Amino acid sequence: RQSVRRFATTAVRAATEGSTAYCTRVSTAQGVVNGLTEAIGNTPLIRLKKLSEQTGCNVLGKAEFQNPGGSVKDRAALFVVKDAEEKGLLQPGGTVVEGTAGNTGIGLAHVCRSKGYKLVIYMPNTQSQGKIDLLRLLGAEVYPVPAVAFDNPQNYNHQARRHAESLDNAVWTNQFDNTANRQAHIATTGPEIWAQTAGKIDAFTCATGTGGTLAGITRYLKEVSDGRVKSFLADPPGSVLHSYIQSGGTLIDRSGSSITEGIGQGRVTDNLQPDIGLLDGSVNISDEKTIEMVYRCLDEEGLYLGASSAMNVVAAKEVAEKMGKGNTVVTILCDGAYRYADRLFSNTWLESKNLRGSIPKHLEKYIVL
Ligand code: PMP
Repeated sequence: RQSVRRFATTAVRAATEGSTAYCTRVSTAQGVVNGLTEAIGNTPLIRLKKLSEQTGCNVLGKAEFQNPGGSVKDRAALFVVKDAEEKGLLQPGGTVVEGTAGNTGIGLAHVCRSKGYKLVIYMPNTQSQGKIDLLRLLGAEVYPVPAVAFDNPQNYNHQARRHAESLDNAVWTNQFDNTANRQAHIATTGPEIWAQTAGKIDAFTCATGTGGTLAGITRYLKEVSDGRVKSFLADPPGSVLHSYIQSGGTLIDRSGSSITEGIGQGRVTDNLQPDIGLLDGSVNISDEKTIEMVYRCLDEEGLYLGASSAMNVVAAKEVAEKMGKGNTVVTILCDGAYRYADRLFSNTWLESKNLRGSIPKHLEKYIVL
């Protein structure tokens, strides 16, 4: 019994010393957290066995699909709501309004339900019907609006802002430029990755939508490692950030588009701005490579991942190959394929995107829809 107690004490000490994220918890008993919001974060770091074998590196994926709302965006959702509460912008019974392609809305829906706030969501009408249905099911008022550029006043973000301005006791959480989003990853995801790898991490990579995940984790890892840990942006076609980094800071007009939902950016957001200069480089990932990795992760690792996660895994593979054998590379498994199955595993959809030929013969058995 004594050795069990000694083990437990050591484990608790390691957890509390290793990461500030664990210290904010009010545990009512061992393993019990107080409500949904405390179930956000502390996700496993999964070693991708086949990919690690193939690259000779340790390739690790942070299982963000295990958050209550099913994605990495639960963390940002919780932090933007807490920030509004702390600033006195949101009183009990108030309304949260957000422009979101889906996952932030789903995270906000869970957080708002558990805290008793109303939620209004504006989103581009190009997103999956499954995501819209789920938001409505979780109690949100949803407005799908035409997908127009940010400089157009009818863009979903501006519509969300105006809606919040028209109500009392309402806040536009503004995930793109509200730095509480980045703060979520400086305070939780970054410290968790550092603690889980015991500091044995050489590189980090992920794609960006708002930039909160990449910027926050990069900031934390750079600070805690004195700049030793490298960080790379993963960027899809149609996003301007890869060319921005490659050209040393010029915003070039975007061309092309990508199948990855929630990813890619036409500008440097306020979440990205303070940390984009910390990046060591970027990798451009084609849809062909992304879709193949969706199928490979399923077949080789048993992981059922959405396209942005698969894109991140391709980036982790390319960073691992660039860094050389023996390195540890961490990426983000943003969400699962559940919300996109009718696209990613559909023969008709793959053909419509000219991606049918990117699925290797031995993986065709997964095209079941
Ligand atoms: N993957 C998915 C599936 C997402 O919905 C998002 C957010 N839109 C991201 C990745 C990007 O995260 P971030 O906003 O922190 O850049």
